[in-house]
Amino acid sequence: MEALSGHKKLVLVSCGMCAAKCQTGGTEEAKAMAEKLINEGFEILSTIVIEEPCDMRISRVDLRRIEDSVKEADALLSLACGLGAQSITEVLSKNYPHIPVYVGTNTEFMGMTERIGRFYMRCRGCGSCLLNETGGICPITTCAKSLLNGPCGGQIDGKCEVGDYKNPCGWIQIYERLKQLGKLDLFSKLRTSLSWQESGHQREVVWR
Ligand code: SF4
Ligand code: SF4
Repeated sequence: MEALSGHKKLVLVSCGMCAAKCQTGGTEEAKAMAEKLINEGFEILSTIVIEEPCDMRISRVDLRRIEDSVKEADALLSLACGLGAQSITEVLSKNYPHIPVYVGTNTEFMGMTERIGRFYMRCRGCGSCLLNETGGICPITTCAKSLLNGPCGGQIDGKCEVGDYKNPCGWIQIYERLKQLGKLDLFSKLRTSLSWQESGHQREVVWR
């Protein structure tokens, strides 16, 4: 609401993929957000659910479909992750550089889910994936200290000291998994420090 102050006419852009799964985007949440904003005195010119707004090609085509509303808008409100919002910003700014895009959601992490309302952080996009050596369990995210060479002295009975022994120790999980796989030799392999250079700012992957 703070970001939207000073604006009146809005276009809502909602993500039909991950944010829909998180119930922060998709059709229903966009509808709920539109109602809320109307009650707050905003005018909603258009609401669109884009299947994958992080794909600029899809955003470009879909935003063109509602261009009549877009060009009249004071601002766009994104119900997508930070990627979706930035993709929409980039597409929009080509023809309408004066129209801001605001985020109506927060982006927590790259995670996996097993049911609505439960999400587990499992990757930080470190750029030097270790899963082949760690039984498919990420030490960067499951270990509270992102350690690379086994558990610290803080684990007790398989629980991590960080967070007061509520969460499992990632490295004990890795050990158990490698044992199941008969690959404990990988557990004692010395890993030198991770090159965070690979996860630096403005990283791009260009393969074609
Ligand atoms: S090791 Fe790096 S790339 Fe692989 S899952 Fe963990 S954070 Fe992601
Ligand atoms: S107890 Fe385990 S998960 Fe916690 S910081 Fe130490 S090694 Fe990492």
